[in-house]
Formats: sequence, structure tokens, C-alpha cells
Amino acid sequence: MSSTTTGVLYALTVATSPARPTPEDASAKSHHAKSGFRNPWDSWQDVNLKIAGEMLMRRLTGKGNVPDTTPPTVSVHKPEFLPTRETPNLRATWLGHACYYLEFPGGLRVLFDPVLEERCGPYNLLGPKRFTDAPCQIKDIPIIDAVFISHNHYDHLSYPGVTEIAKRHPDCHFFVPLGNKSWFKRCGIQKVTELDWWDERDITVSPSQDKGTEVEASGEAASTAPEIKARIDFLPCQHITARTPFDRYQTLWGSWAIESGGKKVYFTGDTGYRTVPLLPEGEDDHDPKYGFPVCPAFKQVGEFRGPFDLGLIPIGAYAPRHMFSSAHADPHDAVHIFQDTKCKKALGMHWGTWVLTEEDVLEPPEKLKTALKRFDLPEKGMFDVCNIGESREF
Ligand SMILES: [Zn+2]
Repeated sequence: MSSTTTGVLYALTVATSPARPTPEDASAKSHHAKSGFRNPWDSWQDVNLKIAGEMLMRRLTGKGNVPDTTPPTVSVHKPEFLPTRETPNLRATWLGHACYYLEFPGGLRVLFDPVLEERCGPYNLLGPKRFTDAPCQIKDIPIIDAVFISHNHYDHLSYPGVTEIAKRHPDCHFFVPLGNKSWFKRCGIQKVTELDWWDERDITVSPSQDKGTEVEASGEAASTAPEIKARIDFLPCQHITARTPFDRYQTLWGSWAIESGGKKVYFTGDTGYRTVPLLPEGEDDHDPKYGFPVCPAFKQVGEFRGPFDLGLIPIGAYAPRHMFSSAHADPHDAVHIFQDTKCKKALGMHWGTWVLTEEDVLEPPEKLKTALKRFDLPEKGMFDVCNIGESREF
């Protein structure tokens, strides 16, 4: 089965784009380390190795919060996908955690970080189990032209997920951070482009000319179906990677910008914004007196690639802050990222699906409301959260 709509088969081609300006420090490639990659900013501190032991100790001593996942939590709806490539607006559907399906005006159909399995972990056996159902399965998504992966953590990159997509949509192209191409090839996926921060590509999704029979069968000639164009950018964010205990930092992480059909979207991926040290209980780490350094990449993204019609920004998996702030934004950090990257509207993600950290499962949207109020931004209509499976238009 190919990527089809009303019977027309489409094929995707990738071309190197004419280079647009980038920040002065981009060419220095300071995120390339001797072995693998690094976060080249003061806003990052690697606390990751301590986390597992400390989490366990907190659990054993009763110090850590164990989030209650008893239903009802986040509502889950069966998503409604458009039956054709036609839509006047940009349409974003949240499929849980960091997975979004985007339908662009002009016809492009893409998925970000598709993980629809029960568990996020090796072999679908280890790792946390969903507390909300997946709203659909890969087989329910009618058209997938391209998949964008932010990094290789199991809650963002699933072997069964990407291999099923490649099987059902043989023309689908996978865009991945540097260092991930060989993993995809080992999975039997050949249509892969890996990119470094600030790399750009032009993609064209063309009605195929060599599948005449199937095209005629639908009554729509391939020659009358318009070509779909998009510009994509792989951009920085603050995170870390690993799929095993032995490959930390060996592949890159990042965020994506996609412009197609007159709409621009920024997918932040999985990211931190600052590193917050251990503070006395009850202390507000966003109090300006602290002034912890922030990740400068987001202002650069806004300046060089913004503004964006829509930002998809993580708001969950943040507590406790001294353990998770460097790799995961909290809702207040998320509003900073929203403003730095010059997004006009945003939807939250990276919550409501698996318990990865200690905050209560319904806390992220509440904290987002409080943060928006502190920024004098409207509580609704600008940076929203959806139900799982819900679509919003922009
Ligand atoms: Zn991650």
C-alpha cells in the first residue's frame, strides 16, 4: 500500500535547499563532541546519571510523589482524519505524548514522534505502561508522507511504529537527527534523511506518473493532482539521547520547523530550557532573583526561522526540578519557549500518556494556566492543551 488519496499515488523527493542565514555560532558546530554530541550552553548540566538512583531512593523512602492514574484523567477520543488532502487550514491532531499528526493546506501529511504502543521501552515489555489509551493505531492514519523524529528515546522512537509505517506507506520518508540513519537502515527502512542542527531541505510530494492503472481507477489523473512542496529545518533544543546504557549522546536530538501550504509549524521535540538546582521546599524557581541561564537556541530559532503559526511544545515530565529541568521544560519554561521562538499559537504535548516523573498527571495543564497568567497572556486560545485524539485548526 502506498500513500494514496482518492487513488492518486504520491512520491516524495528531497533536495538540498538554498542556504538561508543562520546564527553566527551555528557554523562552529560546538554541539559536536569528541564522541557524539553535547549541549553547548550554560543552561545545561548533566544530572542524568544520578536520576535513576535518586528516583528509587525517593520512592523507597516515601519522599517522592507517586502520581495517581486512576481514571478519569485525560479524555481520549477517536481521531477524525480528513479523507482527502484538501483542507483550507492547518490541522493538528494530538495522538498522545509527543505524537502529533499534521494536515497542511496544500496537502502535506506528516507525523511527529509516532509511538502508539502500550509501553515505551525496549521490546514493548519494559518501560512505563500507558495510563490513557492510544487514540488510534498506525493502520487508522490514511496518509503519511513524512515522519519526523526528535530523538531516539523510547517515548519518541518506536521500532514497531516506524517499521509499520514504512510497510503501510512505502513512499513515506523519515527525517531523523544525525547518527540515527544506520538504526533505520538496520530496521529495513531505506528512505531516511539525517540532518544536523540548522540543516534545511526542500521536499516535493508529487503525484506519481508511473502508476497509471491505479490512478485511472480512481477517476483522477495524476497530472491534475497538484505537487506539494515544503521546506524543512532541523533545529537545536536542549536534551540528551540513549537507547541503551552504552550509547548516551551518540546520536543527536533536536526540533523541527516545517513550512508548507502557507503555514509554518515548530515542533520543539523533547527539551529543557534551564537547569534548576535543588532549592528549599516551596521555593519558586521562576523567581527572577535566581536568573538561571536559559537555552539561547530558542531565541535564535525565533529570530532566524520564526514566526510560526503553530508551536508544539512540551509541558510535562518535569518534577522534581533539580532532576529533570535540564532535559524537560515545565509549563512556565514552555511559555518562555513559545515566546522566544515567536509562535503565534501553541499546543501542549509530552504529558497525559505515560508517568515518567513525579508531578500529578493532570498538573501540567493547570500549571500552564498559571504560567500564562503570569506572562499576562490569555488562558485560552493562545497556548492550549487538547484531549487525546482531538484536532485543532489554525
Ligand atoms: Zn527524551
